[in-house]
Amino acid sequence: MASEPTPAELAGKTLKALVAQKLSPTPENYVRLYAEISGKEVFLPVAPPSGITTDPAEVRPPLAWAALIRELFRQIELPHKGITLSRKKDGMNTVLARFGNDSDLLYEKIQALMRSWGSGVAAPGEFAGSAEHVTPASSVPVPPVAEGMDTAIDPVVMAHLRDLLAQTLESNKLLQPELGEEINALVTQIRAAINGDQVTDVAKKLRHFWVKMELRGGDKVKIQEGLLSLLRLLVENVGELVADDKWLHGQISILRDIMEQPLDKRSIADAEKNLREALVKQSSLKQSLADAKDTLKSLMTSFIDRMGEMTESTEDYQAKIEGYNLKIGLADNLTELGHILEDLMQDTRVIQASTVRSHEELVVARRQAVEAQEKIRLLEQELEQVSELVREDQLTGTLNRRGMEDVLQREITRSNRTQSPLCIGLLDIDNFKLFNDLLGHKAGDLALMHVSETIKAALRPTDAVARYGGEEFLLVLPATNIHEGADILQRLQRLLVQKLFVYDGEEIIITFSAGVAMRGPNETAEEAMGRADQAMYQAKAAGKNRVVKAEA
Ligand code: GH3
Ligand code: MG
Ligand code: MG
Repeated sequence: MASEPTPAELAGKTLKALVAQKLSPTPENYVRLYAEISGKEVFLPVAPPSGITTDPAEVRPPLAWAALIRELFRQIELPHKGITLSRKKDGMNTVLARFGNDSDLLYEKIQALMRSWGSGVAAPGEFAGSAEHVTPASSVPVPPVAEGMDTAIDPVVMAHLRDLLAQTLESNKLLQPELGEEINALVTQIRAAINGDQVTDVAKKLRHFWVKMELRGGDKVKIQEGLLSLLRLLVENVGELVADDKWLHGQISILRDIMEQPLDKRSIADAEKNLREALVKQSSLKQSLADAKDTLKSLMTSFIDRMGEMTESTEDYQAKIEGYNLKIGLADNLTELGHILEDLMQDTRVIQASTVRSHEELVVARRQAVEAQEKIRLLEQELEQVSELVREDQLTGTLNRRGMEDVLQREITRSNRTQSPLCIGLLDIDNFKLFNDLLGHKAGDLALMHVSETIKAALRPTDAVARYGGEEFLLVLPATNIHEGADILQRLQRLLVQKLFVYDGEEIIITFSAGVAMRGPNETAEEAMGRADQAMYQAKAAGKNRVVKAEA
């Protein structure tokens, strides 16, 4: 049966469990775990310890472990320059792993570890060694290799970092040729270091090497410090940067370029400054990218909305639109948005095609409309022609111009054949514009009808009456000489006075002025009409309401 574990072993186990469970290093957690592991109640002294025992030779009281652990918690929580919590944990892990079975040594090593935190410098590798390796606070920066080891770094990036470290060292050969061999050995080891132990071992040797370098003093060491602090800056950000490997590779190649140049303090300081600026820029770029992503999202959303408004297309399209809106809302990276955009573009092309189709339909419809318009125009033209064929005036029922021409032609032929006179009378209603103005256009129309009725009723059946213009009438009087013609027109004047036009209960006298011409031998209808027209104007000029015979 195994012997009961010593309090030191229990303490070691408890600390290991605390680290393994990633518990906050509080006395309460320690007590709880210790109780779980030992199966015993634990009592921690309330009074603070008088201090950490530094003399290993000093005889410790049995409860010194509790004081040490209490101090350990305090030291873990205390901020130490350049020592992160994760480094403290690493240190503890290493010490526990190496000295967990020797309570005296464990006690000493924990004390040494805490002292090293107080000095502001330490690397886990050192905790494995003796206290003499603890270097003063002014020492060169900690080799960065161990930093960020707990971050899941891509092996390619890790290889780059190893390479970079090797190069950093190699660059020393130019500055310190006498250390060439030592450097070569270290470089070989660095390149071969793959697992944690190998890295720890190399880190330890590097520290010795850098101490040696420091002793040589001067700018050369400062340059090394600069390079190392650059590297540290880079490695400290590995956790942040692994998300953006491309950027990291870029930075590594920048550093490589710097190291290929002759080194001086200034170029290193510049490089460090650039790197810091790049880090700041990167974080602001990330923000900008996030903003750009949001902008893209909102652009895409509004684009979709517009398309939705534009295309009152099929239900299928509407459903797709809703789908895209949902997807965009859920998308949280540009690649995803890019894919959505591609799909959207594809659908948009389909929509555009359908828009083109509807455009084509529109063109067809428009062409049809133009054709219809043209058809209407032709129909109207036809109608006009048909109207011309009609020989009567629509308003008055007298002959229209076409009818009148026919009659004239027929009567001229007849007159020529029978050698009978032919008279043409042209009458124009007096002050008809004023009539319209006073009584309205409708009354004017009725007046025109009244006049034409009166004329038609008074003429012989062989006579013909035509509406020649607005309120002008042409009379074709076969077998009538100029005197008879003038008589007929005067009779019409009298008739209009006898048979007054009644409008709106009011009797209105309508008068006209007329010119009458008898067609001369071989005279054309137009010529005779022209003379009658002149005579009519003479009648107007002479004071209206009269009939003037045209000169032969
Ligand atoms: P004048 O004594 O010098 O002939 O004067 P007027 O006003 O009769 O002559 P003018 O040529 O200045 O005016 C003719 C008027 O006849 C103008 C027009 O309004 C009217 N008119 C022409 N055709 C029609 C029609 O079909 N209906 C109506 N209501 N008025 C018409
Ligand atoms: Mg007139
Ligand atoms: Mg008139």
